[in-house]
Amino acid sequence: MNQDIYFDNNATTKVDEKVLEAMMPYLKEDYGNPSSTYFFGKKVKEEIINTKKNIAKLLNAKANEIIFTSCASESNVTAIMNAIKLNPNKKHIITTSIEHVSILETMKYLEKNGYNITYLSVDKFGKIDLEELEHSITNDTCLIAVMLANNELGNIYPIKEIGEIAKRHNILFHCDAVQAVGKIKIDVADMNVDTLSLSGHKIHAPKGIGVLYVKENLPFTPLIFGHQEYNRRGGTENVPYIIGLSKAVEMILDDNYKINDRLFELRNYMESQIKENIEDVIIYGDLNNRLPNTSNIAFNGVKADELLLILESFNIFISTGSACNSELAEPSHVLVACKADLENYSPIRISLSKYNTKEEIDIFVKRLINAVNMLRRKKFEKSK
Ligand code: PLP
Repeated sequence: MNQDIYFDNNATTKVDEKVLEAMMPYLKEDYGNPSSTYFFGKKVKEEIINTKKNIAKLLNAKANEIIFTSCASESNVTAIMNAIKLNPNKKHIITTSIEHVSILETMKYLEKNGYNITYLSVDKFGKIDLEELEHSITNDTCLIAVMLANNELGNIYPIKEIGEIAKRHNILFHCDAVQAVGKIKIDVADMNVDTLSLSGHKIHAPKGIGVLYVKENLPFTPLIFGHQEYNRRGGTENVPYIIGLSKAVEMILDDNYKINDRLFELRNYMESQIKENIEDVIIYGDLNNRLPNTSNIAFNGVKADELLLILESFNIFISTGSACNSELAEPSHVLVACKADLENYSPIRISLSKYNTKEEIDIFVKRLINAVNMLRRKKFEKSK
């Protein structure tokens, strides 16, 4: 039996044991409702306030600017809906064609409801053009929404520069920072963002907990009404998950991003091994400005879905791109936006975490070489 090799950490990550340990007391003993007036609940409320200080530190924000949500999708939708409510007479939004589905589907909904959306194009490396962004701004623009790092390519986007453009034109700016957290230092003040989202399950906390950063004094309308989170997000707080997220953040701060040097080395080692041993390989994305853990790679003539099936039979788990789209069996909107030659070069996405090792990379590359050769041979036989 082969050992499992999990290389799909942009889809989700394993919960860290220390995170789980920190959460357990809040499932077993300290299960009070933070809104209760008696001590059993109140002490939990205190803990939530402490966790906000931790998350704020990660973002260079203030604790009162942190709102807990159920996931980053909720954070993204809340931020967009808030921006449009703040500017009821403005009906134009600028975003990119490579955002996460939670942003793009919200934009589609708004388009059906009278909004005009500009989807910034990307070049073949997935890069956006800031001049195009600035030229797209009109008197009717109420929001710019651009991600900090792309989940499929790993590309990092110039958020500080976009924040400056948004500020100059007095337009709200939302940033989806889900994939960047723990991999790039985030400073909301320096980046000039008004709202920003992150998600627990990409940083070794559980699924089902997210954060929305909302700049102090920005008028705010909740998506879910209720008195929790100072009237900004209704619903009894998911205390154990909030504690887990805070622990995961604390671990990032304690490590001071050092893990990324190791991920960078591992990823580059893997890519060089692949290129040395397999002919006609393409690596998609902005190779000079990528997350250290991500590789989006294609092998001429090899269909990614067939390759993934073979790798899965060896207990190697990777994906063709975004986990949220993979069931649709549609080509990745990100690669389509890059005008990639998906007929001949359909990619797989490998995304590493702190748990991955060089030994796993070596096993993976060996199996990958066999699988690619096998599929290319099969194709050749068929064409005869
Ligand atoms: N934004 C990006 C860039 C993501 O990669 C994801 C998850 O894949 C999300 C948002 C959504 O996060 P969640 O699963 O917490 O809703």
